[in-house]
Amino acid sequence: MVRADRVCKNYGAVKVLKGISLEVQRGHVACLIGPSGSGKSTFLRCINHLERVDAGRLYVDGTLVGYAERGGKLHELHPRTAAKQRREIGMVFQHFNLFPHRTVVANVVEAPILVKKMRRSEATEMARDLLAKVGLGNKADAYPAQLSGGQQQRVAIARALAMEPKLMLFDEPTSALDPELVGEVLSVMRDLADGGMTMVVVTHEMGFAREVADQLVFMDGGVVVEAGAPEDVLGNPRQDRTREFLARLL
Ligand code: ADP
Ligand code: MG
Repeated sequence: MVRADRVCKNYGAVKVLKGISLEVQRGHVACLIGPSGSGKSTFLRCINHLERVDAGRLYVDGTLVGYAERGGKLHELHPRTAAKQRREIGMVFQHFNLFPHRTVVANVVEAPILVKKMRRSEATEMARDLLAKVGLGNKADAYPAQLSGGQQQRVAIARALAMEPKLMLFDEPTSALDPELVGEVLSVMRDLADGGMTMVVVTHEMGFAREVADQLVFMDGGVVVEAGAPEDVLGNPRQDRTREFLARLL
């Protein structure tokens, strides 16, 4: 579903991604860990067309991200084509960014109606199903401010799912939450993974990574230092940098 082949990204003279290579199989969950500033968010943003890849190739579901390849040369995608690719990817951020003046169900139906031109009745039915799925069937008519952070983040997940994405990206989805609210969000993510969703998750929740991830990827300084089955990377890290990072985390 995701294939990165020596992906590089610079901000001016600053090299942020220095050749990221990794693959995420369809239906798998990859967890990305690594120190602050190692490029995890930038990599997710490249997958989601929020940043332009400067070198290397990035594919989502077999399609080159940001460019089209013709006659051995790269051509930039038409913005409309890029937007279409983006619609198939859901993203959940640390800060949920719900529309504060709209009810929960209105937040969830917004994109399907505006972008997918779904009928309001159909979108509302789907939204209510999704809200039930994330355990918020009784909060459809509440406003975001009336919900806890964990509930708001679950609405944000339902909102992303309403676009029926084939890939979900999570960027530290529980980092802004009070500790007692982390579990309910991870539990929704676990259900999503069990349902076969392909997910790339930046997280420092090692319990989640150990139990849910098919692949654990340790990034540092814009490169993948080590990647593998979570039990291997956590239980028997091969690189000193991985070992040091994990020691500081535990
Ligand atoms: P992480 O998510 O692993 O903490 P980021 O991808 O956010 O790392 O950032 C990687 C590096 O890129 C950091 O040094 C950060 O300061 C830099 N960076 C991120 N976004 C920008 C930007 N828009 N302009 C310039 N530098 C940026
Ligand atoms: Mg980040």
